[in-house]
Amino acid sequence: MSTLEIHQIPTRSDNYVYLLRESSSENAAVVDPSDSAPVLNTIEMFGWNLTHILATHHHDDHVGGIPEIKKATNCTVVGPKADRDRIPMIDVELADDDTFMLYEAEAKVWDVPGHTAGHIAYWFAESRALFCGDTLFALGCGRVFEGTLPQMYDSISKFKKVPDDTWVYCAHEYTMGNAKFALSLDPDNRDLRAYAKQITARREAGVSTVPSLMGVERRTNPFLRADDPQMAAVIGMEGKPPVEVFAEIRTRKDNF
Ligand code: ZN
Ligand code: FE
Repeated sequence: MSTLEIHQIPTRSDNYVYLLRESSSENAAVVDPSDSAPVLNTIEMFGWNLTHILATHHHDDHVGGIPEIKKATNCTVVGPKADRDRIPMIDVELADDDTFMLYEAEAKVWDVPGHTAGHIAYWFAESRALFCGDTLFALGCGRVFEGTLPQMYDSISKFKKVPDDTWVYCAHEYTMGNAKFALSLDPDNRDLRAYAKQITARREAGVSTVPSLMGVERRTNPFLRADDPQMAAVIGMEGKPPVEVFAEIRTRKDNF
């Protein structure tokens, strides 16, 4: 086991691409490269050797850079088996409960369908890092485009296994909008209010709010709290099954 150094590259209007560098070498991997230029420029600037692309799902703002990066570096493309035909130039196909070794670092892989049919997440336990693509966001969760609401609930629920001190590396800076929605549901949640205040300050300073800590998300993210009776109560769904509470919150967010 070993840990990775994680470097965030903001791209497009609100995407985050991540470089994962092996601490003991100049080898690096990239997660969800929306575009090739910012990735290749960063690699060149640091003198790193790009060995892998890890893709979470097929949307262009996550895989758009793959063809050019692969052409420039001949790296290995890793992605969801369930969507193998929609991930450009895929070499390694991963499915639920697979283990993927990036150098000495072990990633646990989960199928997390809902946003898209084939979506995977990578959890590097030793590095305390969860790469969840567009499934979970700081204070939010992804839109359900290709799956069902119960499927998305199951997917999000898989993340409950990771410890509180895990950093959630989601793929977009959506936190401010998510905070407004979360506060509209649960305005008296003190943890949420404190978190929202911190987010506002960060955005005003032009600073990223990602990654966020799972322990904080658990107490504040309405989608992760669908099984919390207090969350159900504040939206008038006391005693309802968590999956229904989740579906209601996701539907309200779609119309917010
Ligand atoms: Zn997406
Ligand atoms: Fe996206």
